[in-house]
Amino acid sequence: MNTEKSKQAFLDAQKVIPGGVDSPVRAFKSVGGTPLFIQKGEGAYLVDIDGNRYVDFVQSWGPLIFGHCDSDIEAAVIKAVKQGLSFGAPTQVETLLAREICDLFEAIDKIRFVSSGTEAVMSAIRLARGFTCKNDIVKFEGCYHGHSDSLLVQAGSGAITFGTPSSPGVPADLTKHTLLAKFNNLESVQKCFENSNDIACVIIEPIAGNMGLVPADETFLQGLRDLCDAHGALLIFDEVMSGFRASLKGSQGLVSVVPDMITFGKVIGGGMPVGAFGGRLEIMNQLSPDGPVYQAGTLSGNPVAMNAGLASLTKIKSQKELYRDFASKSARLTQGLQQAAKKHGISLHVDSRGSMFGFFFNENPVRDFDDARRSDTDMFARFHRAMLEEGYYFACSQFETGFISEAITLEMIEETIVAADRVFGAIK
Ligand SMILES: *Cc1c(COP(=O)(O)O)cnc(C)c1O
Repeated sequence: MNTEKSKQAFLDAQKVIPGGVDSPVRAFKSVGGTPLFIQKGEGAYLVDIDGNRYVDFVQSWGPLIFGHCDSDIEAAVIKAVKQGLSFGAPTQVETLLAREICDLFEAIDKIRFVSSGTEAVMSAIRLARGFTCKNDIVKFEGCYHGHSDSLLVQAGSGAITFGTPSSPGVPADLTKHTLLAKFNNLESVQKCFENSNDIACVIIEPIAGNMGLVPADETFLQGLRDLCDAHGALLIFDEVMSGFRASLKGSQGLVSVVPDMITFGKVIGGGMPVGAFGGRLEIMNQLSPDGPVYQAGTLSGNPVAMNAGLASLTKIKSQKELYRDFASKSARLTQGLQQAAKKHGISLHVDSRGSMFGFFFNENPVRDFDDARRSDTDMFARFHRAMLEEGYYFACSQFETGFISEAITLEMIEETIVAADRVFGAIK
């Protein structure tokens, strides 16, 4: 495989962009080698600037549920572009998209649009704090909620549940309000509530996708619901990734636990920069200009992005078999990978939810971040490199989730498994 042009492009980029990338995971640090610079997408495929073609299991990290260059989304975007890129004034398409989402989710009476998942979560947390008049938040090790200050935390020392900054530039004064608990471990959350009577909210990815794919147990989520209710804290489901991915309603199509607020991103923008946060009326009414909690954005509800999102959602809802189809494709892919690995004496732990799939080079089930971290990341890196050579573009880290798009056919999945079989034989 010739990647000379990507190598040169990466050198050029590194001279003017830190690390050569605008989001760190893209630099391929955890798998080594040079990131591929992309020329274009074509349905299920990515094409790099050297002309290599790959089946794309990343899908821009989730948004492109219909694959690249979907004609309906493209048409909606082009139509919107011709009417103007941005007005900084309300447009009716915002109401249309908001109504679609409010109708779908029991937890959501009103929703506000922003421009990224990070912004959605940051705003939801501010609103939770404003609504409850409390300051602390609980988050889970291994869950990612964007890069805002109070969410860039890692476990502190020993028995302390208060997080410490995971990045320079984040004041410890901020992260002391972030308590860290363990995923799928209710006791660790109980401990947070014992340590603090100032907890505004518990935020979780109900189907975690940022430590690899690790779904939360329904009983665990119910436990969070009960703890939040008992202590007057809000429960926030961060479905920036799982929304419209795990099912039409994200986790809400799969479990019966209803949160107080939900955050979205990725798929609701159809590939354009969008985020959103929504919840019950009494909570959302606290938001400016109705209420005192401030939040704003020059490009929020951008008409091009709203039209892309609306076209995606309309198309999703028009296809009755979409998620059943996704589920059978991701189940086939993960089972196929697992069987092929086993043939070569390699243990894979696999899971999938709708169009999301995950596989860990791990002999044991993965139920939290500690389990995930025990995976064989060197083996993953070898797998990743060899699969690229075969023409398959997987996420460049063991701790990311894979995505099926509608453009990926069962035939492509069978071919992926055959290629993986070859690769496992070579890397074992
Ligand atoms: C991607 C992601 C975010 C951050 O969204 P950005 O658009 O990258 O800012 C937040 N939460 C979850 C669960 C995500 O997967």
